[in-house]
Amino acid sequence: MRVGILGGGQLAQMIAQAGANLDMSFKFISPDPKACAAPYGEHICADYQDEQAYQQMLEWADVFTYEFESIPKSVVESLEKKLALLPSSKALNVAGDRLKEKRTFNGLGIPTANFAPVDSLESLQSAVEQIGLPAILKTRSEGYDGKGQAVLRDVSQLEAAWQSVGQVPCILESMVNFSREVSIIAARSKQGEIVYYPLTENHHREGILRLSLPLQNDPYQQQAEKLAKALLDELDYVGVIAVELFQVGESLVANEFAPRVHNSGHWTIEGAHTSQFENHLRAICGLPLGKTDAINSCAMVNIIGKLPREEDVAAIEGARFHDYSKDEKPGRKIGHITITSEGLSGEAFNANLKCILQLVGEDPELR
Ligand code: ATP
Ligand code: MG
Ligand code: MG
Repeated sequence: MRVGILGGGQLAQMIAQAGANLDMSFKFISPDPKACAAPYGEHICADYQDEQAYQQMLEWADVFTYEFESIPKSVVESLEKKLALLPSSKALNVAGDRLKEKRTFNGLGIPTANFAPVDSLESLQSAVEQIGLPAILKTRSEGYDGKGQAVLRDVSQLEAAWQSVGQVPCILESMVNFSREVSIIAARSKQGEIVYYPLTENHHREGILRLSLPLQNDPYQQQAEKLAKALLDELDYVGVIAVELFQVGESLVANEFAPRVHNSGHWTIEGAHTSQFENHLRAICGLPLGKTDAINSCAMVNIIGKLPREEDVAAIEGARFHDYSKDEKPGRKIGHITITSEGLSGEAFNANLKCILQLVGEDPELR
């Protein structure tokens, strides 16, 4: 199969790496001349609006997928008319707009934070009266890693917050007082078969994911699967999805979903029978889905801003270094480290995980 990918970052890179086992070939459209996926296929270095780039892709590819959700609507529509775009525009439409996303969750009976649309300073004021404080103002589209968000704790902060998010269409969300954050990653095939990965506990700092820990037999697995299934079926979804959830008391409250492979599923490369990247390809190419069980205990730590020394990572038993070959920059995800428990005692695993957290400049007691 020939797979076209919109985007050439680390997610596209890891999809293409997984495709090598499936005898697939790849082309990427990305305006970044240093796109890190480039060595794993052919890189069409072009703007996301470039008609010629899409023409080249349409003549070549059997199926088209993407690694981010803020794709211009016109591009999505013209691509979908000519070629299978998976997951489809229906999923992209909802995931690309936090307001539609929350309304979709609620329409399926899935709870979310209280929310209200905001499109002016005046409407922000009335949204705050309705929802109360603390709350978070978020741009409806294009935000990632906590970008385009402002936390509101006091009414004196409204004007500065409205300026800081760029005075674009927004949503105000109540601040959820959660006991933990988890995500459920699932894959749905063209026939509607769904497989689920073990629930993963996620730890963020400054809006950026730092640590993911897949859980064996978590008591909330079933609840998470049930709500993911409702969403997948509603969207007639094909491919891998990630649904981010807050646990509040004994309920799971949906934060957002990503219509693609997800950072909290990177552990599946070493830690599951079939990685999320391989299952995404299997789903969009019409192949049977692979087993999602975890092989071992494992954990995934993001490398943000600055790479640790390779020899320091190699010295930690069970650690695998994933360097995305991106330039170092504060706040940028440039790699990750997975540690698996294979051959390690529980104690050694925990000690090694702490070493990894320290190596990447993170609090070793993060979880
Ligand atoms: P990404 O797409 O990279 O996951 P994002 O920019 O879309 O991030 P969110 O997932 O909405 O941002 O928020 C980032 C983090 O901020 C969440 O994982 C959570 O830790 C915190 N957060 C977001 N919304 C809320 C909320 N309503 N209540 C409490 N915490 C929140
Ligand atoms: Mg997001
Ligand atoms: Mg998120």
